[in-house]
Amino acid sequence: MADRYEKIEKIGEGSYGQVWKVKLRDDPANSKNKFVLKLIRLEKANKKEREYAEQEVKLLKTLSHPNIVSFKDHFWYDSKQTQLGIVMSLCEGGDLYKVLKSKKGGGKLSEHEVMQWFIQIALAVQYLHSKNILHRDLKTQNIFLTRSNLVKLGDLGIARELKEDEMASTLIGTPYYMSPEIFQNIPYSYKSDIWSLGCILYEMTSLKHAFTAHAFSSLVHKIINGEPPKMPTGYSKGVCDLISRMLNKEIDARPSARDILQTPFVQEKIKKFLEDSQSKQKRPSR
Ligand code: ADP
Ligand code: MG
Repeated sequence: MADRYEKIEKIGEGSYGQVWKVKLRDDPANSKNKFVLKLIRLEKANKKEREYAEQEVKLLKTLSHPNIVSFKDHFWYDSKQTQLGIVMSLCEGGDLYKVLKSKKGGGKLSEHEVMQWFIQIALAVQYLHSKNILHRDLKTQNIFLTRSNLVKLGDLGIARELKEDEMASTLIGTPYYMSPEIFQNIPYSYKSDIWSLGCILYEMTSLKHAFTAHAFSSLVHKIINGEPPKMPTGYSKGVCDLISRMLNKEIDARPSARDILQTPFVQEKIKKFLEDSQSKQKRPSR
């Protein structure tokens, strides 16, 4: 299976393994068809954990949503089963983090652009939640754009569950998107994903993190006890209200993904988004 794909270039590397841009080897007709191969190192995992990882991939393969990176294939990359390979569709537009970074110093995103992207992310989150799946690592680096400017949520956690201790994995990176409860030993829930979604909307409008600090401990303190972040300027009350509701420190007061999508302000944007995508679909046949 593994040699069906030819590596083109490495596009990511982390403690878990590598991410490659690949193409099908024996597919001249579709030579332009490119994919992403994520290799997850599992040499330290025991048999049960390996089975779990495979089971998790199988579950993710059943997901089908226009705003979620689709899984194409999976296989053990080597005969010793130390690396699990997952093939996904490629998002040529890169990740949202890089897009936002490139805007710094230049113009902000328009409210229209922000909301067009945000509703697609919220739809993806609602879909996952409706399947009882938590994302657990929602951040702009895990949101990808396609060539046609569609948003796809990616990095659905396979290895995530395998890490012995959630806190330990949090400490590896800076926990900009972590909700207050996670630092208070309250289990991760749907509402923790919503907090992260609030951080993402804040970042899209302000081009900076909702919570920042120079030291880890002061960042945690700000998330737990600090004032809500200063609202972005140049955006409507509808956008600012959404951010405030999602960044509510009280878990139960935070809206669900469904609540967000049912907000009249958001409904209006969804209507516009659907109209736009329908007219785009019609255009080539004219
Ligand atoms: P991890 O965060 O565990 O390293 P990701 O799945 O987020 O793994 O992939 C790492 C990086 O590789 C992403 O931030 C992105 O830049 C790139 N990448 C991953 N999947 C895709 C994809 N489907 N299309 C385009 N780029 C991708
Ligand atoms: Mg990632």
